[in-house]
Amino acid sequence: MTGNRTFTMIKPDAVENGHIGAILEKITAAGFKIVAMKYTQLSLRDAKGFYAVHSERPFFGELVEFMTRGPIVAAILEKDNAVEDFRALIGATNPAEAAEGTIRKLFATSIGENAVHGSDSDENAAIEGSFHFAGREVY
Ligand code: GDP
Repeated sequence: MTGNRTFTMIKPDAVENGHIGAILEKITAAGFKIVAMKYTQLSLRDAKGFYAVHSERPFFGELVEFMTRGPIVAAILEKDNAVEDFRALIGATNPAEAAEGTIRKLFATSIGENAVHGSDSDENAAIEGSFHFAGREVY
């Protein structure tokens, strides 16, 4: 059985480039309901904790620097088959390989600065959602 929630962030590059509205429009047009949302900036500690699974990767320093350089939009989204459907909506990690019409194809600039995050499993969706939101902030 698959869950009906996923977690996303509109990353600093997409915020800087003025794409918040267009990305939220794509998300809601695809049938996702926003059940929690905030505009915030990650601290160094937040970013290192959120991406701890990548701490041994060569790009970790770059990733943390990028994700802390400006505000983000964090949200929990609800839809049947949320994790898989949202990964399809955002497209491949590298925008050069992302399918036409996907959010990363439309709005990302590089493999690092790729506009949006989408959880890769139901388990991580729950962990990432609780990282950013208290229970009383989820509707
Ligand atoms: P995702 O699940 O599609 O977001 O991809 P991953 O879990 O593999 O990587 C997490 C994030 O790390 C990506 O979304 C990128 O922002 C960043 N990232 C992945 N690969 C690279 C890379 O080769 N270079 C840099 N600078 N960042 C990367």
